[in-house]
Amino acid sequence: MPQIKILDENTINKIAAGEVVEKPMAVVKELVENSIDSGASAITIEIRDGGISFIRVTDNGCGISFEDIHNAFERHATSKITGINDLFELDTLGFRGEALASISAVAQVECVTKTAKQTTGVCYTINGGLNESVKEIGCPNGTTFIVRNLFYNVPARKKFLKTATTEAGYITDLVTKLALSHPEISFNYILNGKYRLCTKGNGKLIDCIYSIYGRDIVSDIIEFTIDTDVIKGYGYIGKPVVSRGSRAFMNCFVNGRYVKNNVLFRAIEEGFAGYRMTQRFPFAVLLFDINPSQMDVNVHPSKMEIRFTEADKIYSLLCNSIKNAIRNADTIPQVKLDDKKIIEDKPLIHGSGVKTITKIPEPFESKRSTYADMIPSATQNVFREKPLYEPKQQSLFDQTTMQNENKKNYRVVGCVFATYWIVEYNDEMYIMDQHAAHEKILYEKFKKSIENHSVISQPVSPPFVITLTADEENIVNTYKEVFYNAGFEIEHFGGSEFTVSSVPSELFGLCSEKSITDTILMLTEEKELLSSDSSFADKIASLACKAAVKGGRRISEYEAYELVNTLFTLDNPFNCPHGRPTMIKMTKNQLEKQFGRIV
Ligand code: ADP
Ligand code: MG
Repeated sequence: MPQIKILDENTINKIAAGEVVEKPMAVVKELVENSIDSGASAITIEIRDGGISFIRVTDNGCGISFEDIHNAFERHATSKITGINDLFELDTLGFRGEALASISAVAQVECVTKTAKQTTGVCYTINGGLNESVKEIGCPNGTTFIVRNLFYNVPARKKFLKTATTEAGYITDLVTKLALSHPEISFNYILNGKYRLCTKGNGKLIDCIYSIYGRDIVSDIIEFTIDTDVIKGYGYIGKPVVSRGSRAFMNCFVNGRYVKNNVLFRAIEEGFAGYRMTQRFPFAVLLFDINPSQMDVNVHPSKMEIRFTEADKIYSLLCNSIKNAIRNADTIPQVKLDDKKIIEDKPLIHGSGVKTITKIPEPFESKRSTYADMIPSATQNVFREKPLYEPKQQSLFDQTTMQNENKKNYRVVGCVFATYWIVEYNDEMYIMDQHAAHEKILYEKFKKSIENHSVISQPVSPPFVITLTADEENIVNTYKEVFYNAGFEIEHFGGSEFTVSSVPSELFGLCSEKSITDTILMLTEEKELLSSDSSFADKIASLACKAAVKGGRRISEYEAYELVNTLFTLDNPFNCPHGRPTMIKMTKNQLEKQFGRIV
């Protein structure tokens, strides 16, 4: 057995550093969180080479005094707590006093900083935890950290870094989340010499979303608030038209921190039920305020996980508020005649408004001088050179056109391509997809009869015999009653076989062994998302869609009127059960602009 040795301080720091700093993103996170804690109103983040060779974070916060600078880099050095009791009243992001010690143990670090009280600042350098130097220097108030050559002295760790592009991607994502959670701070993000993101820092979340995701998203989001005892919050959710292929655009923050939490995610998704296609996820930026006593936060700084003590309550409160917000919004997609980009499935950082600026500013920031001032505000009418941008569109967010009382004065103009019906209504033109509209009507009708227990069940003879997997069998047994209410009589036949001896009369002739097993399979795959009997019934009801009239099949004008009429009696006429729109609209104003009648 080799002799036991006590490790020297430097080695201990390098090992400990691995826990705090496992990739460049973690360095940026620690430095920016320090800047936020310092009370800064402007923060610039610059990275090169995925942050591996160069990271700069500059803020205009309180700075570090000459006397404190050495201590700031000591392990367990913090100005944020003095004892264990302070932990429970903490409102800063960091507190463990480990970040600077860890970063400087595994990189070459330079810190230029000045407090408002002192007339000169200090430049402190430290490489791999050694060779410190402290010099007096003239500089503005605030702090700049430059971190070079991460892991230059820990090759074993460096080996595990991904490519510069991947590491940069993590950082971009992080900066986005930090900027969204702090609309009161102006963030500037420079990637390989180019500005990628600039937020105004005027405290308006909508302006922040505009700067990050661009104009297309801002014109299709709905303001959202929730104010209950258990959960409070505000933010924006995307109308169904801006749904995404992954959860990457569901940004949830709890008490200022970005979190990945399934209760919140599912509540939002379930709130969108009926407005969202399968495998599409809502866009959301929601800042929640939840009493810390309601949750169990894993205090490790790199963890984004929390657990709620009353998860059920939070789930149903949030889900219902989202439902209401969408129901009350105008969710009919607008026909967009500009041929500019269709919304892509990746963040538009940064699409609109900001010219690419290659000049790198001095590493000192003040709020007034940031490039963020060049960004047009989403809430100001500054888009004269962009005629299709209408800031007043936002007033539509809280106003629902085509609400029940309005649904009478319309005129069916005619049909094009044997599928789309043109409907004139006041100053708007709607284009209705006959198939999607019919699907919606059948679905709602069937869903209502399931809810009212009034489905008429029709025997099939001989019964269908279906073969189910253990998982599917489980679903059939658990939800036997829901199936029964929906008109399906399913009995165990022997082994893994089941008989279906009756089906809902609406679907008689449309049901087959295959369509029934397909539905059960779909229910099995989505069981995680089906939180209640009613959402289960929703899925079964979507079977009714199969009976809908197809596009391309001619229907009479009378039938079209019937379709529009019935559609307008529904709560949410604008989306088919798969979340596709049943109608899109174009305003008279838009047409007039296109023909140059108005500018
Ligand atoms: P922690 O943030 O957990 O306190 P750190 O190692 O991240 O520990 O930072 C140590 C201390 O250095 C902080 O408590 C703070 O006093 C000071 N500090 C770090 N960064 C800044 C900054 N950007 N502006 C002002 N003070 C800072
Ligand atoms: Mg810190």
